[in-house]
Amino acid sequence: MSKRYRPQLRWTTYAGQRRQMWAGYDSAGHVIGWYLDEETAWHAMGIVGHCACGATYTAQQWAELELVGVVDRLFQQRNCTCGSTISRETTERDNLTC
Ligand SMILES: [Zn+2]
Repeated sequence: MSKRYRPQLRWTTYAGQRRQMWAGYDSAGHVIGWYLDEETAWHAMGIVGHCACGATYTAQQWAELELVGVVDRLFQQRNCTCGSTISRETTERDNLTC
């Protein structure tokens, strides 16, 4: 399994101002872009779900996790392989099976 880089909050120059933004990385560790929030950086990296244990999931991997609930049709909750329940916002592209 290849090493997966996480977004990092770093100082950069954006619109002429020094500010902290989230850097997204490719699999080689190169910065692919700067983002205003961590979730956007994760998505830019192709990751739709991630867990405190360090596991990350692409859309396909996410869909294969056990679905444990949908909250107000907005958030899906699935079980990570570590046993924790993680959630993400549901998008129109998701095929919900419950
Ligand atoms: Zn986990």
